[in-house]
Amino acid sequence: MSDSTRHYDLIVIGGGPIGLSTAWQAARRGNRKVLVLERYGFMNERGGTSGAERHWRLQYTQRDIFALTLEALPMWRELESLTGRKLLHAVGSLWFGDTEVKTNEGQISGTARAMDEMGVPYEWLTRPEIEQRYGFANLPGHYEGFLQRDGGTIDVRGTVSALFQLSQQQGAVLRAGVQVTAVRPDSDGVTVETAERTYRADKVVLANGAHANDILGAWGVELAVGLYELPLVTVHQRKGEPERPFWFAFQQPTDEDTNLFYGFPPNPWSTSDDLRLGPVFEVDGLEHADASKGLPAPRQVERVVDWATAHMPWVDPRPAELATGLAMLPKDPGRQFFLGNAGALVDGGENVVVSVAGWGFKFIPLWGRICADLALDGTTTYDIGRHALVPSATPGIVE
Ligand SMILES: Cc1cc2nc3c(=O)[nH]c(=O)nc-3n(C[C@H](O)[C@H](O)[C@H](O)COP(=O)(O)OP(=O)(O)OC[C@H]3O[C@@H](n4cnc5c(N)ncnc54)[C@H](O)[C@@H]3O)c2cc1C
Repeated sequence: MSDSTRHYDLIVIGGGPIGLSTAWQAARRGNRKVLVLERYGFMNERGGTSGAERHWRLQYTQRDIFALTLEALPMWRELESLTGRKLLHAVGSLWFGDTEVKTNEGQISGTARAMDEMGVPYEWLTRPEIEQRYGFANLPGHYEGFLQRDGGTIDVRGTVSALFQLSQQQGAVLRAGVQVTAVRPDSDGVTVETAERTYRADKVVLANGAHANDILGAWGVELAVGLYELPLVTVHQRKGEPERPFWFAFQQPTDEDTNLFYGFPPNPWSTSDDLRLGPVFEVDGLEHADASKGLPAPRQVERVVDWATAHMPWVDPRPAELATGLAMLPKDPGRQFFLGNAGALVDGGENVVVSVAGWGFKFIPLWGRICADLALDGTTTYDIGRHALVPSATPGIVE
């Protein structure tokens, strides 16, 4: 099909992993004309999908979201088998720290209870066990946590390239360098404007990440989100170290920031001994995604280096490489994602599905399925009620 066909069954706006996953899941149903419009290039790292790795975990404090990771797992396996490439690496997911502190990631004690209920195995570890087994040093005396062995690391670039190939194989049309400037739904479908031309679609999926409010703003609607340019800090590991899991340190916030740090082991698919660390500080929010600089705030890097110096004797804490990732997080940590139909936001909004914000990489194959279900069937069997797009008491704001 040539691009002179300007009417599509489905137009996906944004060619990041969620957009590509949606295109794949929709196109594989057959007999559907699917178009993806991407502002930059496919596999760009200018938005939420920069860097080589993301944390895969089954465990969640919230039972409904926990159930969704269990649904996502076989879909990851299918993606791996279709592309012949391992994407989920079960190096383990270690959560430790203050077991009662509540964070955007969840809470250790509440998550342990959820794992008990969901029948997901884990090993509870005391501070001395965490230090002896994994080499951390000088952890506060009350720190405890767990290891969940099925968690670990997701190969980000492998995933995005797999979705790029699969969506094309299934016949989706992928267009790079096309910025959507407006999306106008009505009762019969949706008009999609770009600088070059106007498209028409029965349905649209908005998967343009940190730029979602650029489109929704024209409807007089704004998703309540915080935008943060988070540091990705690569350091050298000292030679001959044993394998370690992904880890996340849950700590009480300081006056300055949320005081949360995480780290990956060296990526199993790489020959390098380097590993990546990061903070999850919800401070210094950006007004707009285009204000991101691609360079981390020096103070945030200093905080990571200080933490590594104090607690990680197996690394050289001086940064070997610095990059950033643009995280868009719902202001209400209870919701976690914006995922659903836009029917409650604007006339004709039932023809638009929105999937943006949150720590969403672990859900990529599932989010694509859900977006395709919502767009093409008008409904989905998955429990996504918590993430629905419903206007709040403040006019125009979706909290
Ligand atoms: C530092 C960091 C760490 C993270 N860690 C984890 C983790 O450990 N586990 C986890 O599950 N998740 C994690 N996440 C979240 C995860 O990476 C994101 O949820 C996911 O990568 C977002 O994918 P996306 O397709 O929604 O967005 P993006 O990859 O940002 O894609 C959106 C695309 O839309 C395009 N676009 C924007 N506007 C337009 C327009 N007007 N027209 C056309 N195209 C447009 C953009 O160019 C972009 O390519 C992390 C995120 C960050 C930043």
